[in-house]
Amino acid sequence: MKHGTICVQGGYTPKNGEPRQIPIIQSTTFKYDTSEAMGKLFDLEADGYFYTRLQNPTSDAVAAKICALEGGSAAMLTSSGQAASFYSVFNIASCGDHVVSSATIYGGTYNLFAVTMKRMGVEFTFVSPDCTEEELDAAFRPNTKAVFGETIANPALTVLDIEKFAAAAHRHGVPLIVDNTFATPINCRPFEWGADIVTHSTTKYMDGHGAGVGGCIVDSGNFDWTKYPEKFPGLCTPDESYHGVTYTERFGQGGAYITKATAQLMRDFGSVQSPQNAFLLNLGLESLHVRMKRHSENGQAIAEFLQSHPNVSWVKFAGLPNDKYHTLAEKYLPNGVCGVVSFGVKGGRPAAEAFMKRLKVAAIETHVADARTCCLHPASATHRQMNDAELCAAGVSPDLVRYSCGLEDAKDLIADLDQALRGA
Ligand SMILES: *Cc1c(COP(=O)(O)O)cnc(C)c1O
Repeated sequence: MKHGTICVQGGYTPKNGEPRQIPIIQSTTFKYDTSEAMGKLFDLEADGYFYTRLQNPTSDAVAAKICALEGGSAAMLTSSGQAASFYSVFNIASCGDHVVSSATIYGGTYNLFAVTMKRMGVEFTFVSPDCTEEELDAAFRPNTKAVFGETIANPALTVLDIEKFAAAAHRHGVPLIVDNTFATPINCRPFEWGADIVTHSTTKYMDGHGAGVGGCIVDSGNFDWTKYPEKFPGLCTPDESYHGVTYTERFGQGGAYITKATAQLMRDFGSVQSPQNAFLLNLGLESLHVRMKRHSENGQAIAEFLQSHPNVSWVKFAGLPNDKYHTLAEKYLPNGVCGVVSFGVKGGRPAAEAFMKRLKVAAIETHVADARTCCLHPASATHRQMNDAELCAAGVSPDLVRYSCGLEDAKDLIADLDQALRGA
């Protein structure tokens, strides 16, 4: 099926007389006739549900839709994008292990990796997404277990050379994990370029309406863990906490990774997405293909308008021909980039502050990738504790504004931007 059809109908096919819309199975538990029947589920010998912390039919249907959109072999929902990022790495890297990550990633992910997971004994080496193959190779160690990057980085808006990162990961016998939140599978399918695992903050474009925080992990099923059993003992040797199950033997190359993440990590950490939120997420997914087209067109129109505006000093958007990442965007994002644009207001911090005050259509929010246009001036909001020098060192200049184009009419967005820029 094509993307548009999967968005609308994927993951759930009702039988005769069943509900047309995905039922919300608002139940923590599931009933069985015998203890033996339930025992088989606990031994992972039979398919079925027993407790919503591990799996729920509503969430599974929505995960199956995202799995089909990405072209994967298995998928799971999580309570947030943060949980998805954490599980995706911790499922294959634990204390004493090492991971290579692009340096331009979401701030929350950076903190998770550089501070919290470091405390858990997992070390990260951050590399520029623009590094050479040699620089990338030099970042690997014997204990490296994965490579991580973002298709379009939030908020740096760099575009990942997925093939370059996948080739390096595979040369060193580890998978490439790609956070595909900003591109969504409508604009890029990382598996087609060699990525092995994809994560999402479904809070952004997938939900698309600012209604529910959520995440998703999808496995391509392409990475052969059994080629490196010494690197991935958690997948290739018996799990004592699950009656000696060896995930790769029992669930095969396409099922081992997600089954382990569900049976172990979700069981123990419990960052589960509620069936109600999964239902809301599915409503968003039903129009993802239609909305991404509009978000991307608005992003392109706004970036072009800003580039020609006398009160704007610079614009970052990979859809602009003179953008540093335009060539990569043409390759990986031929249908459109996304709706997020960043730019500098002439006059620095005070001018950017004055500009923000004058906006009428765009709302001031930390959120991005929403149906309603939202806008953030990090220097006076999320990064306000930093002085100008610290901001520049963090790659967030004092004049930087992040503008996330919603689904409104581009003419109204442009008129709003124009009056706010002129007034500032
Ligand atoms: C927002 C975001 C996250 C974190 O997701 P939450 O749903 O907020 O936990 C991770 N990666 C990217 C690229 C994001 O934009």
